[in-house]
Amino acid sequence: MVDIKSLRREELYNFIEEKGEKRYRADQLFSWMHEKLKESTDEMSNIPKSLKELIGREAEFITLKTVDCQVSSRDGTRKYLFALPDGNLIESVYMEYHDWSSICISSQAGCSMGCRFCASTLGGCKRSLTASEMLEQVYRVQRDSEKRLSNVVIMGSGEPLDNYDNLLRFLDILTDEKGFNLGERHITVSTCGLVPEIRRLADEKRAITLAVSLHAPNDEVRKKLMPVAERYSMKEIMDAVRYYYDKTGRRITFEYALSEGINDSLSHAEELSGLIKGMNCHVNLIPVNPVKERKLKGSSPSATAAFKSKLEKNGINVTIRREMGRDIDGACGQLRRKHLEADLHV
Ligand code: SAH
Repeated sequence: MVDIKSLRREELYNFIEEKGEKRYRADQLFSWMHEKLKESTDEMSNIPKSLKELIGREAEFITLKTVDCQVSSRDGTRKYLFALPDGNLIESVYMEYHDWSSICISSQAGCSMGCRFCASTLGGCKRSLTASEMLEQVYRVQRDSEKRLSNVVIMGSGEPLDNYDNLLRFLDILTDEKGFNLGERHITVSTCGLVPEIRRLADEKRAITLAVSLHAPNDEVRKKLMPVAERYSMKEIMDAVRYYYDKTGRRITFEYALSEGINDSLSHAEELSGLIKGMNCHVNLIPVNPVKERKLKGSSPSATAAFKSKLEKNGINVTIRREMGRDIDGACGQLRRKHLEADLHV
């Protein structure tokens, strides 16, 4: 069976023409799937019955099942728990603020990176998601929203650059002008810092924002928080990030989760400033969200503010990430984890 929603438009032309059908049928199908966001051929009124039957025999439409949807009473954030066709669970989060609306999607069921503060990685990585499974998260949430989604961030569970080929396929389809047609500038890919893949993505020369989860000003501190720091040094990451900027001209975002007593002192802020000074970048601070299985504590509001002002004094662009959906297990992997635990009765 062909996963038809994962086909790039060119590939869909080939698929359709190989079946002896006219090319414009592929355009129609592509539009039904990726522009009008329909889930089955029943809803595709201008597709002839014979083609619908052929598709029914040879292709499948990947859809997700909504297992849970929690809506924050504080800020309207919606957290979705979806079941993939094979039963694996993933999360997506919808957020809005004035005119801006954004969805944070997962790229893998679980994660194998092992970051010490993160709930997504606790059960390991079950598998990577297909392009259609990533697209469906966007489409499902868009179908529930009156407003057009303005941003997509690949910052949910999983390491997107560990699922590189499917990620690229997803990006190609999502930005196709005959499909959902989201501008590359409205997409952010967040990585824990896989150096070869950052360089590979840079060579694609896309206008996509790269967010790098740094969380430390040096290798020693980073190794305490992120096993991936054993594979790639801070220097290698900084070189790759500069390369990304040279190739794409896109300002880099550094994510920095502040954990009390680990990475949140003023000397850490000073060291971080030295590391990124002069780079066209922006630092996004977030106090570590407490995860029940993890011992790390988030930094206090005063330590967070002091860290921020130290960076500012050094001329670094910095924001404290708006906390949204705190009342609904907003942090990475928490809702999924809760459901898995309920099923396992642990
Ligand atoms: N693997 C990618 C994307 C998924 S994680 C990455 O590492 O960037 C998305 C972001 O949430 C990362 O910056 C991650 O470090 C952060 N994160 C995960 N758990 C967190 C927690 N408990 N508190 C604060 N940030 C967390």
